Amino acid sequence: MINKKKLDDLSPYKTETTKCKVRLSSNELPFEFPTEIIYEALRQVDETKIRLYPDPEAKRLKEAIADFIGVPEENILLGNGSDELIYYISLVIGEKGVFIPVPTFPMYLISTKVAGRKPFEVYLDPHFDIDVERTKSVLGEVDLAFFSYPNNPTGNLFSKEKINFIREKGIFIAVDEAYYNYAGDTFINEALKREDTVVLRTLSKIGMSGLRVGVLIGVKEIIREIEKIRLPFNISAVSQVIATYLLCRAKDYIKCMVDKVIEERERLEKEMSRIKGVEVFKSKANFILFRTPFPADVVHKELIKEDVLVRDVSYMPLLERCLRVSVGKPEDNDFFLEKLRIVLERL
Ligand SMILES: *Cc1c(COP(=O)(O)O)cnc(C)c1O
Repeated sequence: MINKKKLDDLSPYKTETTKCKVRLSSNELPFEFPTEIIYEALRQVDETKIRLYPDPEAKRLKEAIADFIGVPEENILLGNGSDELIYYISLVIGEKGVFIPVPTFPMYLISTKVAGRKPFEVYLDPHFDIDVERTKSVLGEVDLAFFSYPNNPTGNLFSKEKINFIREKGIFIAVDEAYYNYAGDTFINEALKREDTVVLRTLSKIGMSGLRVGVLIGVKEIIREIEKIRLPFNISAVSQVIATYLLCRAKDYIKCMVDKVIEERERLEKEMSRIKGVEVFKSKANFILFRTPFPADVVHKELIKEDVLVRDVSYMPLLERCLRVSVGKPEDNDFFLEKLRIVLERL
């Protein structure tokens, strides 16, 4: 029989699939790789033997990632996106409740429930930082905490001292650095030394969302334990080959495109703040959270009519009338700015 008790509390993960000319809803890298690099990557796929199972250890990809991030291979475990790794963490680290600061990335809550654990969702403070007073009241109930660093969808970095304070209470911390390349701040040094800290990274926000490759960084002892539950062939042969090639061949290109996005983020922030009634929240990621005077679902719909897709995040706590826009190519950002002005003018 289907476990109704567990499933009634869950629903299928929804993402934004509406067709629009300018899509700024999923925090992907807005720039494509140069055609010749993509062709060469695809040619390499030709040569992999699709008939065979992939390398269960994804050895070459792991080498490329270790080199790209700058950590030893033995401290890495790969997942089918960091989403898979979030599942693994919820399943094997700790057994008590799970601390989740909200609003944040929905997968922490979903994984916590799937693992049959009790979520402790603690509201952030008015600056979207961890609220220590509220946190104190649940610390005895939890032994695992998730932090999106920077936080999706608010875009800020939580204070390191506050995260450390939680860890000092004997709580294991999983620091999700999906947007690391746009923020530059990291817990990797701690994840390489401490048994109560892991870091998550992903290729999704630096141009390879379609490949589904996530990275967990931790001490050998933790990697060895999580390896026990990892699905044997979780990274497809195609993803292994393409990601390895792109990380080696297009490393500088990725860096350059990330810098371009950061530059555009600053410009977009400035331009958006100039629009009457728009409140912009400073971001360390590749997206920007903003609030308008109107119901977010209305703004969202009106923008779709203008062929622009952003994410309505107003269903989350503390984010009344808020939307999230991914930083796009310069021309897409201009298109978005123009349409946002028009829509707010009209409402
Ligand atoms: C986008 C995102 C991820 C990425 O997940 P993948 O499964 O690697 O694509 C992870 N964490 C956060 C906070 C994100 O915003």
